[in-house]
Amino acid sequence: MNADRARAGRLASQLRDLRTAASLLPDALVLMDAQGRVRWSNPAAEALLGIEWPRDRGVVVAERLAHGEVGQWFKQQSEDSGEDVTAPTDPAVRLQMALIPFGDRQQLLRARDVSHMTRLEQVRRDFVANVSHELRTPLTVIHGYLELLDPEDVPAVAPVLREMRVQSQRMRQIVEDLLALSRLEMQHKLPEERVEMAPLLDTLRREAEALSQGRHRITLEDAAHMDLLGSLKDLHSAFSNLVSNAVRYTTEGGSITIRWRLIPEGAEYSVSDTGYGISEEHLSRLTERFYRVSSSRSRGTGGTGLGLSIVKHVVNLHEAHMRIESEPGKGSTFACVFDTARLLTPGAGEDE
Ligand code: ADP
Repeated sequence: MNADRARAGRLASQLRDLRTAASLLPDALVLMDAQGRVRWSNPAAEALLGIEWPRDRGVVVAERLAHGEVGQWFKQQSEDSGEDVTAPTDPAVRLQMALIPFGDRQQLLRARDVSHMTRLEQVRRDFVANVSHELRTPLTVIHGYLELLDPEDVPAVAPVLREMRVQSQRMRQIVEDLLALSRLEMQHKLPEERVEMAPLLDTLRREAEALSQGRHRITLEDAAHMDLLGSLKDLHSAFSNLVSNAVRYTTEGGSITIRWRLIPEGAEYSVSDTGYGISEEHLSRLTERFYRVSSSRSRGTGGTGLGLSIVKHVVNLHEAHMRIESEPGKGSTFACVFDTARLLTPGAGEDE
């Protein structure tokens, strides 16, 4: 009997220690039973979520947190976007939320204050946007003067002048791409309009031919015959980035296929090439800014290293995703996969 009492005492003391330890954590923790009711919460849950223990014992968490961005998160947690939300207790606080299942259908709700990281991220974004903006005007002036100088008039420095023009154009392109990325990063939503795919695909084919200058065989396959709901300007920019990459990373004589087709999930725009290809270890990092498999090849072909980051942002803003397949020496396929909800029948009314 005494041994039992001693064991119970030890267990109770261990439980107290665990609760004390959890109370000291900066993250909000709410222990929920199988019905989603509060079993226990730590002091941070009061500060960050407004859930106070023992006052709120038995309260249904999803009902208590039904409003604002946290409420929205609760409704959509099955498709965890990983985005942070505003704290219900303080609009200046950003929270990263997680629901962790444990035991018999119980759950642990965790909310972490990420305001500091969000602010740093904002400072980084503003800095990049401001630097790019400030560089734009002086670069335009330099580029303008360089364009005025005719290398024929100054044969002694003609090669230097040509190189200066190429490099100033490159700098301008980097600044334009950085500005485009900043703009995309600041947006949560893009305009939603009918993007007529047939003329857009035709434009992309012509762009490919202009870039290729007859060095590749270019084919367009439109098997979907569907329009898209989205932003024409941004989709054009993303799609043509893929076309330009295919042209730049495929040697003379290769083939490039621009394809728009239906798939079970919806529809897929893809650009396939028979170019250099990319080995497996690089694939997951290709959409990072300035990530290049080969810097010299990228620069040599006029790349800024920002193209695929732009594509990824545009694709994300259309709730779509990218699919990349590649094999060194064989070629690559870069695809953008759109959900059925974004497809529109050509020629039909908007509300069809
Ligand atoms: P860049 O301006 O350098 O082309 P991107 O962001 O468009 O920048 O692409 C990142 C890198 O991915 C490129 O530097 C290149 O190494 C690789 N890449 C992109 N598209 C292709 C392709 N079609 N074939 C082979 N490599 C590619």
